[in-house]
Amino acid sequence: MKKLAVLGSTGSIGTQTLEVVRENPDLKVTALSAGRNLELLEAQAREFKPELVSLQDEKAAETLAVRLADTDIQVLSGMDGLLAAATEQTADIVVTAVVGMIGIRPTIAAIEAGKDIALANKETLVTAGHLIMPFAKVRGVTIFPVDSEHSAIFQCLNGETGNQISKILLTASGGPFRGQTREQMKSVRLEDALKHPNWTMGHKITIDSSTMVNKGLEVMEARWLFGVGVDDVQVVVQPQSVIHSMVQFADGAVMAQMGVPDMKLPIQYALLYPKRRHMPGERLDFWSLQSIDFEAPDFENFPGLSLAYEAGRAGGSVPTVFNAANEWAVAAFLRREIGYLDITDIIGEAMARHKRKENPGLEDILETEAETYCSISGRI
Ligand code: NDP
Ligand code: MG
Repeated sequence: MKKLAVLGSTGSIGTQTLEVVRENPDLKVTALSAGRNLELLEAQAREFKPELVSLQDEKAAETLAVRLADTDIQVLSGMDGLLAAATEQTADIVVTAVVGMIGIRPTIAAIEAGKDIALANKETLVTAGHLIMPFAKVRGVTIFPVDSEHSAIFQCLNGETGNQISKILLTASGGPFRGQTREQMKSVRLEDALKHPNWTMGHKITIDSSTMVNKGLEVMEARWLFGVGVDDVQVVVQPQSVIHSMVQFADGAVMAQMGVPDMKLPIQYALLYPKRRHMPGERLDFWSLQSIDFEAPDFENFPGLSLAYEAGRAGGSVPTVFNAANEWAVAAFLRREIGYLDITDIIGEAMARHKRKENPGLEDILETEAETYCSISGRI
């Protein structure tokens, strides 16, 4: 029996993780945490019977505690609750599926408590990868990628220990605005940006995919997960999302992982590694697929990707500024307070204003996040 804590259980990755748990009776949930969706968290708590549940929102947590009074489930709230879920005593592995930098502290706490990590929350690695990767090594815990591209790379690296990677080929769908110019994207509305061609995901990552900022975050995520330089990660646009990513080795051989786009595969792989087990769902049919297309990314019209490479090369506190500015701007765009093209403009401006700090600790990272928010709201 493998026991897991799911942080962000009411979200897109969280609910798909619970679907995987339903299909695998040797997986057991011991902790669940969410933001404020108490209805769904109550239903999940009753179905999966964890030891504890936590909501970020205190008022919602109070209501949930009353509703779950007929059970033995402990109900917690706030950051303390999130940390308690991340370190729940009996859990073997923690699925980090909260969205944004809020995931840093619980991820570090889970590693400290000796838990393996099934990592979906990429913002954590982008901003604190230099702290998390060595810490995981010291604590002897494994970080299993859940992001589909990184799971693909991880799968391509099976049995290749000691062999030199010459390049990681990170595939991208190109999002709903592939082929458009900035001029054409001026009039993009929230509804347009929320329509991803191949994946159904949470709102924040769907917007990030449309701006290609998601791919930029993934370049930095890959750098930490696989110990390569940012310029060893090449983005390849592959609009059908059939190839989830590839690795080119020193001898020129390229390994690819392919499949129907379905996040349950990388989630299940992370939870059952190294085993593969039957998963219900569609299969790739190469006779009807016929062709797979490739393109270079459009760095000019999608400056979010160029800025991400710039942030990744600069390192230190710069990736935090890139990420925090994006989190701020996407939240504002989702509230319809700024225009679509403002998102990447805001990131570029925040990076230009920032004075880089070398090797930031956890407090420096959180301070840089707050400073970035402050510097943007002062200007808008
Ligand atoms: P969602 O927005 O769908 O879900 C986010 C989850 O986090 C919800 O359970 C939400 O709770 C919870 N949450 C939000 N704020 C807080 C908070 N302050 N404290 C505790 N919990 C909080 O996001 P996704 O599932 O799409 O994405 C999660 C992460 O996984 C992101 O980092 C994303 O980049 C990454 N990822 C997602 C993929 C996908 O297919 N969705 C693919 C690859 C990576 P509530 O519902 O109550 O608000
Ligand atoms: Mg991805």
